[in-house]
Amino acid sequence: MLDSTEKKRNVQHILALNLTTGKRVFSLNEPQYSIGRYPKNSIVISAEGISRQHATLIRKHKNNDHFSYVIIDGNVEGYKSKNGIAINGDKIDKSELKHGDVIYFTKNITAHYYIIDQESQGFIPELTPSGFLAANSSHLISLSTDTQIIERTNKQPTLSEISNLASVVELSPIPIIEINYQGIITYLNPSANLKFPDLEKAELQHPILKELLEKQNYKNGSLVIREVNIKDQTFEQHIHYLAKEKLIRSYIFDITQRKKAETELKYHAFHDGLTGLPNRSFFDQHISLMIKNSERHNKSFAVLFIDIDSFKNINDTLGHTIGDQILKCVAQRLTSQVRKSDLVSRWGGDEFVVLLSEIENPDEAAKFSQRLLQAFEHPLNIERHQIYLKCSVGIAIYPEDGQESETLLKNADAALYRTKESGRNHYQFYNPEMSVEIAENFALESQLHQAIKNGELILHYQPQINVKTGKVYGLEALVRWNSPKLGLVRPNKFIPLAEKTGLIIPMGEWVLKTACQQNKKWQNMGLPPIRVAVNLSAQQLQQSNLIETVENTLESVGLDPEWLELEVTESILMKNIALASQTLQELRNMGVYISIDDFGTGYSSLGYLKKFPFNTLKIDQSFVKEINQNPQDVSIISAIMTLSRGFNMRVIAEGVENREQLELLQKLECEEMQGYFFSHPLSPDEILNYLINFNQQKHLIFALS
Ligand code: C2E
Ligand code: MG
Ligand code: MG
Repeated sequence: MLDSTEKKRNVQHILALNLTTGKRVFSLNEPQYSIGRYPKNSIVISAEGISRQHATLIRKHKNNDHFSYVIIDGNVEGYKSKNGIAINGDKIDKSELKHGDVIYFTKNITAHYYIIDQESQGFIPELTPSGFLAANSSHLISLSTDTQIIERTNKQPTLSEISNLASVVELSPIPIIEINYQGIITYLNPSANLKFPDLEKAELQHPILKELLEKQNYKNGSLVIREVNIKDQTFEQHIHYLAKEKLIRSYIFDITQRKKAETELKYHAFHDGLTGLPNRSFFDQHISLMIKNSERHNKSFAVLFIDIDSFKNINDTLGHTIGDQILKCVAQRLTSQVRKSDLVSRWGGDEFVVLLSEIENPDEAAKFSQRLLQAFEHPLNIERHQIYLKCSVGIAIYPEDGQESETLLKNADAALYRTKESGRNHYQFYNPEMSVEIAENFALESQLHQAIKNGELILHYQPQINVKTGKVYGLEALVRWNSPKLGLVRPNKFIPLAEKTGLIIPMGEWVLKTACQQNKKWQNMGLPPIRVAVNLSAQQLQQSNLIETVENTLESVGLDPEWLELEVTESILMKNIALASQTLQELRNMGVYISIDDFGTGYSSLGYLKKFPFNTLKIDQSFVKEINQNPQDVSIISAIMTLSRGFNMRVIAEGVENREQLELLQKLECEEMQGYFFSHPLSPDEILNYLINFNQQKHLIFALS
């Protein structure tokens, strides 16, 4: 601990090492310093001729007022250095240091020892037992007022140099440079010397000194802050103009890391990590500028909302790693289609937004969309998978469809929504009716919550007929919503909403229970037993308690499992193949029938059929619809028939609307059918009538077949 008086006087003990590589200055105040080559020393000198522990400095208290340092050769345990030390030319083992002593470690490596009284700004030429003898302060030249050029040589330092050595400036790790108004360097601290070794050579041509002599800054006290780039480093230079002293002093901060971090942060804040595309924040700024510009120059631009069709299925089937790669490829494809002045941004998930700048008319946006859809016709090759992607586009045009960013986005999104609803892989322009439709959907959503509670759901049943035996062998239960406000609502309108809101779970349970109860009721009435098919949604199949629910329902109703069939679509299965196949197998083991619905519209290959325990395959209506005009549909149905025979599956054709279709299907050996030609879905009462009277109707149906 420093003595309180000494602390008050603020005396500094300085050891200035003169190394071949430059000067190093130490302000001494610890009780002990070890000096040597060994890295654990307090002062390390790694140079030839220096021992591992060459010398030791020990603080010695003289009296209450001050202390001094004693230097010893070697370490405190008495091990001497190899080459010894000398003070002012005399070899010694131990010596109490005095101000101005020169310590010789080797011929080339020396040190000066100084004792400075900071308060009186003087150095102490010698220590006497009575205390300090301060130098005459008028001799001292402080750094800030020094106008003379300090010669940086190895000769004995001048008083001002010693003063500098002891100052914070000299010890500062921050480079400090002073030049005078003639542009001559008047001072460099060691840190500046180290950081900018060619400063003295390059003089005013050095980037740090360039343009420092600009006249307009010469007002006293003016401070200029600038950034200077030297190679790959960035410095912040604080330039003080000291008019009175005619000096320009710079403090230089290395801000390379900070700059890098700032650039990186800025990049992250405005770009999407996965694809590297601009993100929403970037987009927001860009569209604001675009609106301003377009307004000023009376121009139009287009906002395109783009969404990859069924991306969730792809992600669920192929995994997220491939999903991510797909998104990156999509980003590249989109970027390759736009001009420099346009913007492609990632909105989140599989949604992208493109801004087409300066379009003459909406037709340009249409043409761009066509090009985009075409660009997606080529498959992506990712990890041995050939992936065919399709996308849907919704377009809003500035200023017709909105003058603000928010409106334009909302309307482009509404147009996208409409595109998706009307069959995907297409583009649509916004029109005001779409907003009405979306608002209606909102209303629908809130009403749907009440529908189950209020008992507004009903089931209709559509017969499934075996045209060979001429019998109704099953009924498909199809849910309807009998809304007091909206009338009879078809499932296509509310099932997607129910799925989105999670309402599908209670709704699905209600359908299952009601269909089973109804079937049991018909059996109890003495009708020949018939199988009722119930549609399952993706969420239901993913419920861990589905098997339990089905089991409990059958048990509570008292229906034999063989009279229940569960329909699942291909896309539902693809969401989690392993889980789906296990669940379906357990249901099958229970005795429940399983069918694959809308076959041919999903992504699964025919090979997937093997993985699942299907009893029935339902050919999607779209194949039946054009069977008479489209030979391709005929060959698809024919292939499905052959395949299902191989897998021992029954086949039913959906959507049979006329006799021509019936006959063609018969030719293809498809025996089971369902469709308006036989009957629309009917209420329970109507279906009872239908079943009872079927034998009479049968004559009509099969009259010509
Ligand atoms: P789906 O399971 O493929 O049902 C067949 C759909 O085709 C029914 O439409 C039916 O009315 C209709 N259809 C039947 N014959 C013909 C025909 O000859 N021509 C035409 N054009 N259409 C015909 P619906 O009742 O509107 O149901 C649509 C879809 O809603 C169903 O397709 C099914 O996926 C879903 N759905 C219906 N009820 C339920 C349910 O209770 N739960 C779940 N999760 N989905 C259901
Ligand atoms: Mg169905
Ligand atoms: Mg179907």
